[in-house]
Amino acid sequence: MYVGRFAPSPTGPLHFGSLVAAVASYCEAKANQGQWLVRMEDLDKPREMIGAADDILHTLVAFGFQWDDEVVYQSQRTSLYQEAFEQLQRKGLIYPCSCSRKEIADSANNGIEGLVYPGACRNGMLQLRSQHAWRVKVTDEMISFNDAIQGHQSQLLSRDIGDFVLKRADGLFAYQLAVVVDDASQHITHILRGADLLNSTPRQIYLQQLLGFNKLDYAHIPLVVNESGDKLSKQNLAQPIKKEHAPQLIFDALVFLGQNPPLSIKQSTLSEIWEWAITNWQLSKISHKPSINI
Ligand code: GLU
Repeated sequence: MYVGRFAPSPTGPLHFGSLVAAVASYCEAKANQGQWLVRMEDLDKPREMIGAADDILHTLVAFGFQWDDEVVYQSQRTSLYQEAFEQLQRKGLIYPCSCSRKEIADSANNGIEGLVYPGACRNGMLQLRSQHAWRVKVTDEMISFNDAIQGHQSQLLSRDIGDFVLKRADGLFAYQLAVVVDDASQHITHILRGADLLNSTPRQIYLQQLLGFNKLDYAHIPLVVNESGDKLSKQNLAQPIKKEHAPQLIFDALVFLGQNPPLSIKQSTLSEIWEWAITNWQLSKISHKPSINI
């Protein structure tokens, strides 16, 4: 059984970059007779835009997407994250860390995504501060996986990332923990998402191993970037997608995904477009580049 998902963060309305991820995960799930679920990743309340979650769901409906179970909201699942957190705590795998950004910057090496935490609080907090984060201990073991689009990937968490945060100093659970718990509890089998999350995948595989969860299959599609190479986002004012342009935009997303849709489908109804897209869908036609400029 194939269970895929689309997991938008409600930091703004859907833009072309998020549509591409939705179209790809939807077509791949449906072409495999699978289920497609939607999860609202609204854990980071300070970054949320009021009304964006509803707006995203309305836009998905207007574009003809149909999900196979109720939408799940991360903001309502704190107890699940807490349970996983306590499981790791009981095993002695996490520790409180009170280091400030500056303290870390003063002694850390660069990794692949910023500084590698040097482990200063591993054996007890250096400074006793009431506001502190919680980090998970990583090991020297290489984490490898085969991405269905980007190919073989491997990371040494201790060298490339360092002990990473599972619970932030403001008390919020980190994306890396929430996503792993949610994917397991929703019985997701396949992850298809933007290549900006390729570097996060080994951290997620590592947490799945620690928590005894099943392995997942991964496929990371090229990221949609603007002329300056930046990911489309609310911050760089990516245009929200409008339902009046749905056929054209789904067509454009299929072109971006290498599916060569016939021009005629722009004049078709949404259900005809989806039928074409799912029947003709081929994951192997997607470019293997990490990003494509539009
Ligand atoms: N919520 C994340 C985002 O919008 C996606 C997370 C995921 O697909 O794992 O970038």
